[in-house]
Amino acid sequence: MATNRTFTMIKPDAVSAGNAGAILKMIEEAGFRIVAIKMTQLSAERAGQFYEVHKERPFYEDLRTYMSSGAIIPAILEKENAVADFRTLIGATDPTKAAEGTIRKLFAKSIEANAIHGSDSDENAAIESSFFFSQLEQY
Ligand code: ADP
Ligand code: MG
Repeated sequence: MATNRTFTMIKPDAVSAGNAGAILKMIEEAGFRIVAIKMTQLSAERAGQFYEVHKERPFYEDLRTYMSSGAIIPAILEKENAVADFRTLIGATDPTKAAEGTIRKLFAKSIEANAIHGSDSDENAAIESSFFFSQLEQY
């Protein structure tokens, strides 16, 4: 079932570089409403759980280390066609391949430290949202 919500996470490279505000501004200006947000830090174990689907990939251990290296900002976003539109806004995984004007093109440091996460399906958006937010306030 299509929903109007997606999940995002501003990653440690973007938070530590002081780009969180600029990224959130782009997200809001693209028409997404922030319905939940916080700052937190993952342990390597929790980062590994979040990216469990990639556990056989060669970059998995590095990804766990990187994703637990500093503060992150997880958030739930609302907009019509949220999942697909947000993937367009963030751009390709590899910033050298990301379209001009996308968040990753503007802020990513590398294919790993690529500034931001965006869910790839409605099902994963729901799973990832509940990984960080147990109860949703209504605003
Ligand atoms: P996306 O975040 O665009 O959905 P993936 O789900 O394929 O990309 O990968 C999850 C995350 O793992 C990426 O955002 C990036 O941080 C990291 N990653 C993906 N591919 C590589 C790679 N080849 N080398 C290092 N890190 C990678
Ligand atoms: Mg992915």
